[in-house]
Amino acid sequence: MQLRKIRLEGFRNYDRMEAEFAPGVNLIVGRNAQGKTNLLEAIGYLGSGKSFRAQKTGEMVGFSAEFADLEGWVAAEGREQTLRWVLFSGSRPRQIYRNGVKKKTAGEVAGVLPTVLFCPEDLQMLKGGSAPRRRFADNALCQLRPNYDGALAEYGRILETKQRILKDCRDNPAVAEILPEYNRRLCQVGALLISYRARFFRSLEEAAGKYHHRFSGGREAFSLEYRTVSTVEDPFAPVQKLTEELETHLSLHSRGEMESGQCLTGPHRDDFTIRLSGVDLKAYGSQGQTRTATISLKLAQRELMARQFGEEPVLLLDDVLSELDAGRQDFVLNQIETGQVFITCCEPGRFTKLGKTIEIENGAVRPVE
Ligand code: ATP
Ligand code: MG
Repeated sequence: MQLRKIRLEGFRNYDRMEAEFAPGVNLIVGRNAQGKTNLLEAIGYLGSGKSFRAQKTGEMVGFSAEFADLEGWVAAEGREQTLRWVLFSGSRPRQIYRNGVKKKTAGEVAGVLPTVLFCPEDLQMLKGGSAPRRRFADNALCQLRPNYDGALAEYGRILETKQRILKDCRDNPAVAEILPEYNRRLCQVGALLISYRARFFRSLEEAAGKYHHRFSGGREAFSLEYRTVSTVEDPFAPVQKLTEELETHLSLHSRGEMESGQCLTGPHRDDFTIRLSGVDLKAYGSQGQTRTATISLKLAQRELMARQFGEEPVLLLDDVLSELDAGRQDFVLNQIETGQVFITCCEPGRFTKLGKTIEIENGAVRPVE
């Protein structure tokens, strides 16, 4: 896949802008707060309908704009296609177009412009709490499996409602009557998520292990273990069995949930553990090992997507190269000889030779000769 051209109107600090990109490396340079990350956000959003930084859609609409209009011309599946999103700041639903035809869901445009983002915050992904690791897996799966997106969204909605019911129960115990219905659906959709994740993590482990092996000169054996609800014996089991196992766990914790008013069990708490030659990375990994493992995961994500779509996804490197030492920079750059890449940085330095340089200044773009 290749983004040939983008047009932004009322998106973040871009009032009106158009830019054309090279098929290989595009270096986005500019001082701080000029709009480099905003541009990467727009590219990621074009392909997935998701932002890696906005909490609400409205945040992406320019301060003085009524709506944001993003359009991209993409070479995908052997032809030129267009993707367009129109976003509003209030509750008005966004509009999605593929090749000028209106679509209902983000799933209907999945696969046209898949992207992999790598930013400095990702370098912390393997150290702290589980949320960023889940976000990483969910983001990859949403792009890889169009049905996962819908299931994840449904799971989130049921969980939110259940959370409200648990809170309301405290004042009005009669509300608890409707809980079993929500729990049943939560377990059904949850089982589906586990099933997808199990397969994803297995492929990810295999691909990331290969990169890590190469990167560490074969000194460290990389393993990744998917961790989900404890009553699940085998996450590859049929969805029906997973549903029953989730129900068992729920019934074990139903009192705790009522007492705490929290949803205590389910795949919304899933995680994965990485071990290097058997040693838990999160607890014992050095900074260098953690960085190497993270890079391996990101490159693996890219490889799984390339396999799925038959073309390299677009790689978005936001400020990340400047965070890496020269050896790791070279490792990343050597793995991306093919495919399109967008690299943002303030100090282009040694990267300028890589490809097309685009300078960003105050929400405007000008190519540099
Ligand atoms: P850095 O090098 O520091 O990472 P950057 O070039 O990546 O900078 P961006 O994160 O893209 O900068 O953001 C640039 C500016 O966009 C910020 O000054 C911010 O105030 C502005 N901005 C963010 N959201 C909006 C919005 N909805 N409308 C208008 N401007 C916005
Ligand atoms: Mg930035």
